[in-house]
Amino acid sequence: MMISIIVPCYNEESALPFFYEEATKVLTEMGRDYELLFVDDGSKDATLQVLRDLAEKDPHVTYLSFSRNFGKESAMYAGFCNVRGDYVAVMDADLQDPPSMLPQMLELLESGEYDTVATRRVSRKGEPPIRSWFARMFYKLINKISDADIQDGARDFRLMKRNMVDTIAEMTEYNRFSKGIFGWVGFRTLWLPYENIERVAGETKWSFWNLFSYAIEGIINFSHVPLRIAMWLGLPLTAGASVALIVCLLLLAFGTPIASWAWPVCVSVLMGGIQLVCLGIMGSYIAKTYQEAQKRPHYIVARSNRDDIKKVR
Ligand code: UDP
Ligand code: MG
Repeated sequence: MMISIIVPCYNEESALPFFYEEATKVLTEMGRDYELLFVDDGSKDATLQVLRDLAEKDPHVTYLSFSRNFGKESAMYAGFCNVRGDYVAVMDADLQDPPSMLPQMLELLESGEYDTVATRRVSRKGEPPIRSWFARMFYKLINKISDADIQDGARDFRLMKRNMVDTIAEMTEYNRFSKGIFGWVGFRTLWLPYENIERVAGETKWSFWNLFSYAIEGIINFSHVPLRIAMWLGLPLTAGASVALIVCLLLLAFGTPIASWAWPVCVSVLMGGIQLVCLGIMGSYIAKTYQEAQKRPHYIVARSNRDDIKKVR
């Protein structure tokens, strides 16, 4: 039985020693075999050197180092494709994901009820209020318009069983949004809330605009609602303009004079509406094409009493 921890690192030379010390302390106390898999995401500081030194003195440490900065999502994916543990966790290098939660998470997983124990922040102290507001709006929106279950304040920090890890590694889509992927693959998930903790050293790698475009990415990857907006706008416009045209015709037939602008307005709204409906229809086909291009699995089997079945297809 082995626990693997995936740690994406981008310019974390100052935080890594703290993380290593704390994580090693907790994992040693847990008394299980473990590995720390660090993914150096093309850091420009001495992160790689720190990792080399750690790996030299501690056989629990392995690392892989990217040729350039590919982003946290790619770093996590590389982790999922290369970990060996039966239980796998993703953790930030800055101690914002407290290693002290690991023993409890493992205990909950081993009780057999759940496939994954995920964490979410219940407070956002130390964060700019405008950022928190956007984050809350984002979680509200994405839960409404997609079928991935994403809790407000969800972190990437979670402990999961091997079957879930294999499934995530099989999700080969290029534009990755892990919070969505975790939610999309399903499995029995237990959410543990905790208070936000500020980064131990170094600086956040995410600007407001980074986060904003990441949120848009999440919505586009897990919802086709944006592609259908044209349809929703077009249908009422078409219907309204058609009714107005009929009313104009009736009024004329009964000899009632109508304003000279009524015709052109009705006709142009009708044409606009029809065009939007056509765009909406195209959007539906694009959504299907996009879905096919993502090559997501058709099904995921969480458990069965046969072990020779294909679990993901
Ligand atoms: N990270 C990464 N590649 C990047 C940006 C960030 O691997 O391009 C890592 C970073 O080293 C950290 C984790 O992702 O371990 C979370 O980043 P950060 O703490 O800066 O984000 P925040 O917690 O402020 O949202
Ligand atoms: Mg952080």
